[in-house]
Amino acid sequence: AKNNGRNRYVIYDDQMGAAADKRSRTEAEIEVALDANQFELHYQPRLDLATGRIVAVEGLARWRHPERGLVPPDDFIPICEDTGLIHVLGRQVLEIGFAQAAAWHEAGYDVQLSLNISPRQFSDPHLLEMLEGFAARPGFPVHKIELEITESVLIGDQDGIAAKLKAITRMGYRISIDDFGTGYSNLSYISRFPLHCLKIDGSFISLLPGSGPIVRLILALAQQLDVTAVAEGVEEQAQFDWLKAHGCTQVQGYYVARPCPASELSALLDPATA
Ligand code: C2E
Ligand code: CA
Ligand code: CA
Ligand code: CA
Repeated sequence: AKNNGRNRYVIYDDQMGAAADKRSRTEAEIEVALDANQFELHYQPRLDLATGRIVAVEGLARWRHPERGLVPPDDFIPICEDTGLIHVLGRQVLEIGFAQAAAWHEAGYDVQLSLNISPRQFSDPHLLEMLEGFAARPGFPVHKIELEITESVLIGDQDGIAAKLKAITRMGYRISIDDFGTGYSNLSYISRFPLHCLKIDGSFISLLPGSGPIVRLILALAQQLDVTAVAEGVEEQAQFDWLKAHGCTQVQGYYVARPCPASELSALLDPATA
């Protein structure tokens, strides 16, 4: 039994070692990929329930790997977040997204673009400077850009966070709280932050109608705060119908559309002119 126990530990150590190896290999590969511009954004529509129109899209990072194909963000964002590479990736994501937003604006598509800001990116002292730089570009549709920050980012130095959010919204950006309902933020502070949107985490949507009381509470909160309520991860007609009946503003999920490259998205968008 003693031997078995020791063997188990050896196996466990080996697996830990293998995982660590794989991680550092991936880290090195991500650095190369960032240099080679292998990251791109796919876009998932957000449908307005009152009008049935696509009024916004969320940009989601993808890694176009030369051998592995399209790699999902869960395979590289956490590594980037741990290693600090998120600062480089985050800037590339903003560059790509902002260029796309400007292109849609130019082409007459009236669509808002949401981009994800990771916790480490949000705490970066250079974030404001970078956002300011984009906002200052001539003709840039800053009011069409929404930055999604996860609820967990709102925990901590409340005055510091409020000041940062105010600075960002003063530049013209919108702010959305992502994965709302999962982050244990302080509700008394939420009401003091400058916010435009609450995104109800998909875990609540998948549990409808059982999670109905919680979702109704979040919808009521959004209404009280006068912000847009977006339900994420809407996969079924029944969820869609429930959300529509209960006053949700927008829905996002496979039921409406999967994330797709910009080239395929234009077919879903309404031209503002014409
Ligand atoms: P998120 O911000 O909560 O994004 C929503 C995720 O749910 C996306 O996964 C999306 O493809 C997926 N999804 C959309 N509709 C449905 C649905 O109906 N059912 C289900 N089960 N899933 C749905 P994705 O693209 O794999 O992204 C995963 C996470 O990676 C994102 O979660 C976000 O936290 C992070 N992420 C993605 N792009 C970026 C980025 O550019 N920067 C940062 N910092 N994080 C990113
Ligand atoms: Ca998001
Ligand atoms: Ca989310
Ligand atoms: Ca999430």
